[in-house]
Amino acid sequence: MGSPKVYKNLINGQWVESKSGKTYENLNPADQSDVVGVFQKSNADDVKDAIDAASDAYKKWRLFPAPKRGEIIYRIAARLEAEKEELSQEMTREMGKIIAETRGDTQEAIDMTYYMAGEGRRLFGQTTPSEMPNKFNMTVRQPLGVCSFITPWNFPMAIPSWKSMPALICGNTIVIKPATETPLSVVNFARVCLEEGLPPGVLNVVTGSGAALGEPLMNNPAVKIVSFTGSTEVGRKISEACATNFKHCCLEMGGKNIQIVMDDANLELAVDGALWGSFGTTGQRCTATSRIICQKGIYKKFVEALAKRAESLKIGNGLDESVQMGPCVNKGQLETVLSYVEIGKNEGAKLITGGDHLTGGDYDKGFFVQPTIFGDVTQKMRIWKEEIFGPVVGVGMFDTLDQAIEMANDTIYGLSASIFTQDVNNAYTAMRDVYTGIFYVNAPTIGAETHMPFGGTKETGNGHREASMAALDVFSEWKSIYVDFSGALQRPQID
Ligand code: NAD
Repeated sequence: MGSPKVYKNLINGQWVESKSGKTYENLNPADQSDVVGVFQKSNADDVKDAIDAASDAYKKWRLFPAPKRGEIIYRIAARLEAEKEELSQEMTREMGKIIAETRGDTQEAIDMTYYMAGEGRRLFGQTTPSEMPNKFNMTVRQPLGVCSFITPWNFPMAIPSWKSMPALICGNTIVIKPATETPLSVVNFARVCLEEGLPPGVLNVVTGSGAALGEPLMNNPAVKIVSFTGSTEVGRKISEACATNFKHCCLEMGGKNIQIVMDDANLELAVDGALWGSFGTTGQRCTATSRIICQKGIYKKFVEALAKRAESLKIGNGLDESVQMGPCVNKGQLETVLSYVEIGKNEGAKLITGGDHLTGGDYDKGFFVQPTIFGDVTQKMRIWKEEIFGPVVGVGMFDTLDQAIEMANDTIYGLSASIFTQDVNNAYTAMRDVYTGIFYVNAPTIGAETHMPFGGTKETGNGHREASMAALDVFSEWKSIYVDFSGALQRPQID
């Protein structure tokens, strides 16, 4: 093997080295001998250059007609589609999730990009009658300016696209700082944008650590909005930093998502849903199922069936098409998972299956852990309350739907929840009373579609939604315009 490829920052349409002169290696979590690439360890000067470039580019981009912006964005979508397989393979190498899932991640970026390309010919505002004669009222969306994006590693291309495409179509310019673990997918995304005609400076990428780059990305006065997806802990810091200057701030953070299984549920379907929701993406989804509660009559059958299925999952390098679960993203995440297995055991939960670090043979090359199921989980336990972000799910029990809803809401988070039931009354009651941003009936807690609002309540978010039309509200501000053609002074509420 030759020396690994060196990837640079994208600033003002140029691929440039960091002014720090430093780089870091990005290694495959399934095989630490595989160097995915060498990336820039950027510093505050690089961030400043990127923000300056974005500020400059904003002057023209905001005035470039939105349908024309949409045409560029449409070409980007087509190009992502053409490169889907290659982009997905590279994403599996840097993030670890199985190839079927990284194809899904890339597809999500494609869907979002096509969707927002179409918005170029809409971006509808309202016209409404004035309360005065000979006066016309309308609303238009105006862009904000420069946006800073700080993104996580679990959806390396989908999440950056959720933020970028609505921002771009509204006329904003961008600086993205991808997660340290997954810079390549954002570099690839940016390369496609540049090659398909996005003007220099409209989208800039600076790679490196969040701790080093967070402050300059947030505090530069030219930045009008910070959009962050990641942990609640970091999100809180960002929220506090933005509050001082009233900077807009859109936060998508942690989850502790629940699947409710009623006695009348289709058992096989509920098990399918739990398996996919809990162990898909190695449990490293913000919407991952990490709590399951079963009604008393179905609990035993459900737990047995789920354990059997979990034990049969093939774990390994996600580039192998037959593998069903990949590694944890890094050593730290693996250690977190193993520490929660110990916590669960010590607080009295029953380890039904899994819990071990997988070692020997190819497993020694990466960060593999067994899919893990705890039974007899109660609301006092830390494994009930805390986000683990790995393939660990706790199963508890309830008597009545009211109790299930109370248990579902017993969390500081509010991202996703689901119910498996054949009874329409149960489904509608839970739909109404479980306080989350996303709710599924007879489907797992994961599986968002790009034209539906995405985000959560309580400590998962700060009231905004990504994706869908709702994303346009994050990346534009309404301007209300009154045109008086009466030729006289008219005073609302007075004349
Ligand atoms: P993280 O908070 O550690 O990192 C997210 C991003 O923030 C990374 O780019 C990181 O470099 C950066 N960062 C770290 N410290 C920073 C600081 N002090 N200032 C500024 N930026 C900083 O999260 P992660 O480990 O990458 O992702 C896992 C978390 O993300 C989980 O909590 C998960 O639930 C959450 N997540 C939420 C959603 C959602 O939409 N709600 C989606 C995906 C992931």
